[in-house]
Amino acid sequence: MDVNTKISKAIKLLQRFRDRPVTILFSGGKDSLAALLLALDAGLKRFNIVYAEVTGNTHPACTLYVYNVCKKLGVLDRLVVGSAKAKGRWDFYTCLVKWGIPWYRTRWCLNNFKVPIWQKHGYRIHVCGIRASESHEKSKLNMVRFTLQNAYMVNPLYTWTDADVLDYIKSRGVEINPLYDIYLDSGNCMFCPFKPLPAVARVMQDQDWGPKIARALMTWLETVKDYRGAEIGKRVATKWLRFYKQNNILTYL
Ligand code: SF4
Repeated sequence: MDVNTKISKAIKLLQRFRDRPVTILFSGGKDSLAALLLALDAGLKRFNIVYAEVTGNTHPACTLYVYNVCKKLGVLDRLVVGSAKAKGRWDFYTCLVKWGIPWYRTRWCLNNFKVPIWQKHGYRIHVCGIRASESHEKSKLNMVRFTLQNAYMVNPLYTWTDADVLDYIKSRGVEINPLYDIYLDSGNCMFCPFKPLPAVARVMQDQDWGPKIARALMTWLETVKDYRGAEIGKRVATKWLRFYKQNNILTYL
C-alpha cells in the first residue's frame, strides 16, 4: 500500500471520531507528531493534546519543541502539559534506584509518570502514534483497542513504516524534533530500557545525561536484591554502563 492510500485510510478512521471529544497523546516524537497532523487533517473538532513529561527523565528541549510545534500548527490553546511525581515526590531516577529497571510487566515509569497525566487530562478516546513495526509487543495491538485505563486507543499509523511517517511529516512542512539529530530520538525519555544501542551510545556520551544515568544505575546495581526480573534489569544496566565507560576511556586518549 503506498503512503497516500495509508494517509487516506488513517484520515477516514479518525473522521469516525470527528464529533466526539478526543485526546491526542503527543510525546514530541515523530510518530505522535504524525498522529497529531492526521487528526488536524481529519478535521477533528473537540480535541485536546496531552503531553506528559517524565519528571527528571525528559529533556527540557523536548518540552520546548512540543510548545513550538503546537504554536506553529495553531493549536497551542489545545495543549495540556503535565508532569507527575511518583508517590507525590519521587522523580524518575529516585524511582529507578528504588524500583529497578522498568520492563514489560513492570513499567512503573508508564504507570507513575504518564498514565496519571493521561487519566487526569484525557478524554476517553486517545489518538496515539503506535506502529506495529516498532516492536514485537506493539505488533500484537490493533488499529483501535480498549485499554486498561478504560479508554479507546486509536492508532491511525498502525500499518505505517518509518519512511511513511517521515514522508508525511515532510509533506506537511513541519520539522521533526531536533533532538533526533543528537540522541536519535525525541528525548521524552532519556533513559529507556527499550532504546536501541546507537541511541544508548548517544545518551551515554552526553556530558550531563551520561553521568546522571550512570550514577543511578550503579547505585541500583550496588543495592539490588534478587527479585523476578532482576537479571534482565542487570543486563540492561550493564549495557548502558558499558557505553558510559567506553566514552570515559575515549576522553583520555
Ligand atoms: S519510553 Fe521507556 S522509560 Fe519512558 S515511559 Fe515508556 S517504557 Fe518507560
